[in-house]
Amino acid sequence: MAIERTFSIIKPDATRRNLTGGINAKIEAAGLRIVAQKRVKWGQEQAEAFYGVHRERPFFKDLVTFMTSGPIIVQVLEGDNAVAKYREVMGATNPANAAPGTIRKEFAESIEANSVHGSDSADNAKIEISQNFSAFEIVG
Ligand code: ATP
Ligand code: MG
Repeated sequence: MAIERTFSIIKPDATRRNLTGGINAKIEAAGLRIVAQKRVKWGQEQAEAFYGVHRERPFFKDLVTFMTSGPIIVQVLEGDNAVAKYREVMGATNPANAAPGTIRKEFAESIEANSVHGSDSADNAKIEISQNFSAFEIVG
């Protein structure tokens, strides 16, 4: 399997409840390595740009408000099949449908406040990583 990188966000609902360590323990236990990490707070423009694909969806405005409501942790994860593996560790978007043991099953509050983001393809991972990190901030 190819070594791959994916982009991860620990969302405001999780930083507010002091779950950064608990979430990263699950990520590391799955064999993914955190090769870049910073704590930031997004403004409206950054959140709208990041979630631009959802601009026409009814939940877009609320999602932007939520993602700018507190600090987030942006990270790059590295490992075998990292994109798919991290999606598996996160669990389904709606925590009600997430498998036992996944981050969202254990920690998410709702379909919106679902604690984590993960890239949905290797191509999007590259775009999201370059939006959030410069090359010298990623140390494998
Ligand atoms: P993410 O992109 O954050 O990793 P995802 O790929 O599982 O999540 P998407 O369909 O890309 O899900 O939705 C992006 C985010 O928008 C979700 O993680 C969630 O925070 C929010 N969202 C998705 N669907 C809904 C909904 N029906 N109502 C409210 N918020 C939603
Ligand atoms: Mg998505």
